[in-house]
Amino acid sequence: MTITFIFHGDLPGLLSVKPDHNGVVRHTTYRRASIKDMIESLGVPHTEIQVLRLRGDKISFEYIVQDQDRIEVYPPTPPCDVCKPSILCPDPLDSVRFVVDINVGKLAALLRMAGFDTAFPANATDNELAALSHTEKRILLTRDTSLLKRKIVTHGRLIRAIEPENQLKEVLWLYGQKNQLQPFSRCLCCNEKLVPVKKKEIEHRLLPLTKKYYHDFHQCTKCDKIFWAGSHRENMEKYLRIFEDIKPENAVNELFNQETD
Ligand SMILES: [Zn+2]
Repeated sequence: MTITFIFHGDLPGLLSVKPDHNGVVRHTTYRRASIKDMIESLGVPHTEIQVLRLRGDKISFEYIVQDQDRIEVYPPTPPCDVCKPSILCPDPLDSVRFVVDINVGKLAALLRMAGFDTAFPANATDNELAALSHTEKRILLTRDTSLLKRKIVTHGRLIRAIEPENQLKEVLWLYGQKNQLQPFSRCLCCNEKLVPVKKKEIEHRLLPLTKKYYHDFHQCTKCDKIFWAGSHRENMEKYLRIFEDIKPENAVNELFNQETD
């Protein structure tokens, strides 16, 4: 069988074979296979594909390829709504939540800093990351192509950007989350939502200068850490600069500092 694939957008860059300058790959095989398996054998994980077209019609990943098929392969067009079902993703997510692989670990901290529910399990194996993505319905973010080829991973992103700040922009842009930022509303250590706490309830834990100069505190209900606007503001502002072109009107201006700083 000879199948012609046309890879659009930045998908040619993910191929393990060399396409022509129009992203066209002519693939010869003797094996009957689903379109998902065939495209993944060429290097592109199924999570990177939003639409497959055969003679103009949308087809699913289960389609069994036939001789002389000519298949158009499209990457996601931002903003991607992961909460809507599609032919390729019939089981939508309930909300935009993430699980992050260690190979983009700094991205996990930035997502939490921006207020997104982000799982970042320590020492997780690929099996565990894939399972977590599946059971908790989280978007799996990684630079590991093979991890995203697993069938149970329905939503994921092979992160293209190298710098963590650009990785954050890539994710917010792709999933249309630019206006959903809630900076410093979530514990950076364990992902829980922070809640306001009265100073008198926690002042025995504060260092003298913190106690003297700061009055508004938030606390993580899980790990008990205390956060306040404070002396490490400069450091936090350095990170906040990455939000400049995407900062929403209702962004929380208050910056938080950790108890242990
Ligand atoms: Zn915590």
